[in-house]
Amino acid sequence: MLRIRHLVVVLGDQLSLESSAFDDFDKSSDLVWMAEVAGESTHVLSHKVRIAYFLSSMRHFAEKVRARSYRLEYRRLDDSTNRGELAAELHAALATFKPARIVIVEPGEYRVESMLKTVAAEAGIALDIRPDRDFYCSRAEFAAWAKRHSQLRMEFFYRDMRKKTGVLMERAQPVGGQWNYDADNRKSFGKAGPGLLLPAPHAFPPDEITRDVTALVNQTFPNHPGTLANFELPVTAEDATIALNDFVANRLPSFGDYQDAMWTDQPFLYHARISATMNLKLLDPRAVIMAVEDAYHRGHAPLAAVEGFIRQILGWREYVRGIYWAFMPEYINRNALEATEKLPDFYWDRTTDMNCLKQVVGETLAYGYAHHIQRLMVTGLFALLFAVDPVEVHKWYLAIYWDAVEWVEMPNTTGLSQFADGGLMGSKPYIASGKYIHRMSNYCEGCRYKPDEAVGEKACPFTTLYWDFLMRHEQMLNGNQRTRMQVRNLTRISKEKKEAIREQARDFRAAMPKGKY
Ligand code: FAD
Ligand code: SF4
Repeated sequence: MLRIRHLVVVLGDQLSLESSAFDDFDKSSDLVWMAEVAGESTHVLSHKVRIAYFLSSMRHFAEKVRARSYRLEYRRLDDSTNRGELAAELHAALATFKPARIVIVEPGEYRVESMLKTVAAEAGIALDIRPDRDFYCSRAEFAAWAKRHSQLRMEFFYRDMRKKTGVLMERAQPVGGQWNYDADNRKSFGKAGPGLLLPAPHAFPPDEITRDVTALVNQTFPNHPGTLANFELPVTAEDATIALNDFVANRLPSFGDYQDAMWTDQPFLYHARISATMNLKLLDPRAVIMAVEDAYHRGHAPLAAVEGFIRQILGWREYVRGIYWAFMPEYINRNALEATEKLPDFYWDRTTDMNCLKQVVGETLAYGYAHHIQRLMVTGLFALLFAVDPVEVHKWYLAIYWDAVEWVEMPNTTGLSQFADGGLMGSKPYIASGKYIHRMSNYCEGCRYKPDEAVGEKACPFTTLYWDFLMRHEQMLNGNQRTRMQVRNLTRISKEKKEAIREQARDFRAAMPKGKY
């Protein structure tokens, strides 16, 4: 067999021919290697949509590799010789092809990068890990930025990124004179609701490749959560661009106003639904930001919506990646609030009478999607108040969303939503009672509980657990300027009522079904 120079490994979230792994690709001596393995879908109990999204996107990408006449070794999940684990498959490939070097772009997961290093070392083959150019800020650049700041805050990182890139900048000043227009955003739909004319995201009916994949996933992972009945996602770079253009044309102008709002049976509202396309590298974040910035300059979308959206990508998305790589591997074990409860079963099967959670978990199971506030202020908030072990919460988020890749999922879960990192991602825990959910959605109208009651049969569990949380963490919250006012409200509550809240929270935790999955 002809000696292979580079074995170019392409993982499921590295689907770009423009990546640095292909910079010096030589058709005559290099080989592209891709593998579908069951282990990547079972190390957490992955949603069927997440599995199918990765596999279908990989198979479509493989077609592109073939169309370029690049040599490709593609290991299919349904191949009877498939070993089921990435490390075993790679070991076998190295033994067969004996490449001089393995070439790969920086993986999105610490576990995978460690595995690659081990396998390469064991095989005695050089490993060339190349920079991921899809990010504006490299791992090293973020680490240097973090070193320069005694306290890490996304807002300051974001401003530095605006200055560095010139995005939404005018003569070294932020366009419009402000860095952040959130004060103009965050409306609820009020009683009237979002109306009947909500522009649904463009649908991409499954083609033959996707149909094969969905059949394979249903057959191979029948007991995994979720359904593929609603699978209509963009699985190629071309479709991802259509999804982006559809968002910019139809939903971006109202994105800012309603980015925090929630409404029954309306999972997408004015959100982009493009996170996974960027995470798998079907869509370059630069193209996204350019299209959105252009919409502002054309007068198509207001500055508050455009700035709010760009901050999610140029700010949050880059920031969480920096945090992940700067603090792994110890980050995963952080548990600043010493939370130890098991994750309630309803996270997997939606058997709950709390209507907000039934809605959000239901949409999650139906689409593998929930928008940011649903993740942060419904499922995340409940887990935080219930005191679920942050590793259990992390595993659920990594399993359940179509866009879940560890570098972005973990800081959002462990840090932002569970405050398990003690304040690295966010300056305070995101805590609220049921009244917040009542204000931002219509979920409470269909619920047997009352959002403003903390004790009694009709007490909203969020509200009971919120006050219980304030009491359990009173000292820590008192020491934080941003939560001091919140905790001060405890002084308005009688000793007897406090005891009743504690007891109700204790009974509620004890009665909650957990540990089935
Ligand atoms: P939009 O609301 O339209 O936002 C536009 C884009 O901004 C998104 O596509 C995304 O790329 C980016 N973005 C927005 N918020 C964030 C954020 N906090 N961090 C990073 N990027 C952001 N996002 C993932 O891509 N994968 C995950 O596994 C993931 N897990 C999360 C877990 C928790 C607990 C929370 C609170 C958030 C998580 N997010 C994750 C961030 C965010 O919820 C999703 O990116 C967003 O809901 C995706 O939907 P969209 O494309 O419609 O986003
Ligand atoms: Fe959720 Fe409480 Fe509202 Fe019911 S009353 S929907 S549990 S916030």
